[in-house]
Amino acid sequence: MAPVAAKRPTLNHADSGVNADGRRAPDDPTSVAAGTNFGADRPNWPAAILARPAMEGDMRLLLVEDDAMVGDSVRQGLRQDGFTVDWVRDGRSAELALANEVYDLMLLDLGLPRKEGLAVLSELRRRGNRIPVVILTARDAVSDRVRGLDAGADDYLVKPFDLDELGARVRAVLRRQSGRAEPEISVNGLTLNPSTREVTFHGSPVTLSAREFRLLEAFVDRPGAVLSREQLEEKLYGWDEEVGSNTVEVYIHALRKKLAPDFIKNVRGVGYMVPKMRGEA
Ligand code: CA
Repeated sequence: MAPVAAKRPTLNHADSGVNADGRRAPDDPTSVAAGTNFGADRPNWPAAILARPAMEGDMRLLLVEDDAMVGDSVRQGLRQDGFTVDWVRDGRSAELALANEVYDLMLLDLGLPRKEGLAVLSELRRRGNRIPVVILTARDAVSDRVRGLDAGADDYLVKPFDLDELGARVRAVLRRQSGRAEPEISVNGLTLNPSTREVTFHGSPVTLSAREFRLLEAFVDRPGAVLSREQLEEKLYGWDEEVGSNTVEVYIHALRKKLAPDFIKNVRGVGYMVPKMRGEA
């Protein structure tokens, strides 16, 4: 990005001086967790901000930004940090993307065409969607920050911001999120933990690629439901990625090999499903 002036992080939740995970705020370097070397090159930044989650390379972000230059540089910066980024340019498109895809985090501009960012966020929370949201905005009035956090944002950056800072904030929010307990999903001997992304099959750990995990998660989220190839392709790819004609089959084959040949059933002419066994919720 054409380097915008770096701004030191000053915001934290409710300005209480304590982050959601109970640590002191980022501007207090004495809060760095003892015994870690994170941030040796940035001594003023605490480990909580600089530590990278192990799964970062698998993280998929939705960027909602109508300014082409800002959007382009933010997307490039986050891609260099190893994130997969889908970029939409208005509020309605954001809602459409969220309805069709699973994202780990949303970066949300407030001043947007078609639907304001705050309205998108409020609606999302009203529906019970807990996706982490970082607001990006040119507005720096205190009332806007408060309204954003009240509407359910997890963090907040005021433009112009530094891309390194953005990346650090995103990682911090994702880290807090992954510390939150989410119930494990168990289907037919398979247990999948959406928070830690750990998978076991009849008690044995299973190692999956990011896309294999995403595909499996789609099935076990809705056991008994038939998912079409198109639905599965959407789980596998960002909007601007090419999808090979037999890609879904390739991943299904891989999952069957790692689990059991009949774990995922073909439903002729319609798609695939993981059947719901009797006695499982
Ligand atoms: Ca805007």
